[in-house]
Amino acid sequence: MAGPHADSPGTRGAFGTLNRHCRTMRTVDVAPTSLDRLDHLIGPERWAGVQRGVQAAQARLDGRVFWHVNATATGGGVAEMLQTLLAYVRGAGIDTRWLVLDCPEPFFAVTKRLHNALHGSPGDGGALGAKERSVYEAGLVPNAEDLLSRLGQGDVVQLHDPQTAGLIPHLTGRGVSVLWRSHIGCDTTNEHSARGWAFLEPYLREVEAVVVSRPSYAPPSVPKERLVVIAPSIDPFAAKNAAIPNGDVQRTLARAGLVVGVDDMLEVRFPRRDGTIGSVRRHTGAMVAGGPVPAHTPYVLQVSRWDRLKDMAGVLRAFVGHPDVPVAAHLVLVGPAVEGVSDDPEGAEVLQECLQLWEELDPVDRARVHLAALPMDDVDENAHIVNALQRQAAVVVQKSLQEGFGLTVTEAMWKSRPMIASAVGGIQDQIEDGVSGLLLADPCDLAGAGQLMGRLLTDDALAARLGAGARERVYQKFLPDRHLLQYEQLLAEMPLALRHPGGTTA
Ligand code: UDP
Repeated sequence: MAGPHADSPGTRGAFGTLNRHCRTMRTVDVAPTSLDRLDHLIGPERWAGVQRGVQAAQARLDGRVFWHVNATATGGGVAEMLQTLLAYVRGAGIDTRWLVLDCPEPFFAVTKRLHNALHGSPGDGGALGAKERSVYEAGLVPNAEDLLSRLGQGDVVQLHDPQTAGLIPHLTGRGVSVLWRSHIGCDTTNEHSARGWAFLEPYLREVEAVVVSRPSYAPPSVPKERLVVIAPSIDPFAAKNAAIPNGDVQRTLARAGLVVGVDDMLEVRFPRRDGTIGSVRRHTGAMVAGGPVPAHTPYVLQVSRWDRLKDMAGVLRAFVGHPDVPVAAHLVLVGPAVEGVSDDPEGAEVLQECLQLWEELDPVDRARVHLAALPMDDVDENAHIVNALQRQAAVVVQKSLQEGFGLTVTEAMWKSRPMIASAVGGIQDQIEDGVSGLLLADPCDLAGAGQLMGRLLTDDALAARLGAGARERVYQKFLPDRHLLQYEQLLAEMPLALRHPGGTTA
């Protein structure tokens, strides 16, 4: 694309010039997706709202680019959401772009600490003092220069999560309109969350608006007028959630090396985000413990990053330790291959801890507990495999100790899976206990978790009722039309910088 936004050598944006060799951030290509495919799903009334919203947003942005910056292109809920939501925004004729920070490893050690703190957790117990602040700020300087060199006059920037908050003053100091979206938080503040917010407070002073997933996640220093609550959504047509033809679910799992006893000779195809069709490759190394699950065996599933707050180890303990869980049932714990998520230094350690626990199981349990680390080199294929795993699961669990929103919950609910999930964070906004899933009041209650697993594995009528309630809940609340319209409203209400000298300010 030509003009001030171009990613070309020696690009000159409205705020400076940068030589190609100084480019540090990575552009994530987002292929446009037409909103039309939502039409039949959401019905005429909701569809009319979408069309009105698109027109209003186009008029409001008036050629401005809506930039997004986050810490990773793959792995985790933010990357997942940006991949699908921005595709629709582009499909609506709005120029939106996605950049990923390029920062050294010590920077991500600090931001992981911040992430844990904002979740109210001590994390590695390390400090968030002057030394950490200087590592954090130094890591962002080249990214700020790169970003400024790409912006056109009047462009809008949305920064995501603690990794990017330090970019705010670089941008607001140049008159750029900036939003900051925090996808994490905790229900009640404690010393750790206070420490995290104190670290971020100086960066949040000038931002136009802070977007949070639920009211309790608001940074304490940000006044109500600058706060907007917007819950995430899933794309029902993306490879992660699209319907999979009969037979392809089992074949996908067999080709991925996750299930045995199924004929996997036929090719399995899946939709890619760029509109092309992919084909599931044969994998041999994804199952890292327990071997492939025998075909047609009922299994309990948790899919998560290898993050301690997801408590994969707790799921394992609850499953093997409760007499109500039928011995015929298996447990599958799934996360990304640990080298695949660049901003998550804890991943390898947590996977290792789970492996250690698995090794300590008696042989009978070792044969019914499976740990998988899925390849991340092809994100569309990864999404399709997760989709198949969720569809085939008898019960899906998300026993997080803290949770920002929990897209894995939304994804499984959309597939009408009976869910058991901790009553923490955004999970509470998704599951109505007993109607669209079962909530575990105390996320540390292993006996309670085991008992709920046993109940859903043995009561088919209850499982079916909760599954149907789950699908309906997502249909009503967590599809992209609601999400996009909230952004349209936010843009309508915030002052935008002049698009070009001589233009009109909103
Ligand atoms: N995910 C994935 N592959 C994996 C593990 C996780 O695609 O091996 C996805 C998962 O399907 C979900 C996202 O990563 O879309 C995790 O988002 P969530 O909001 O549940 O948690 P977060 O990682 O943001 O804390």
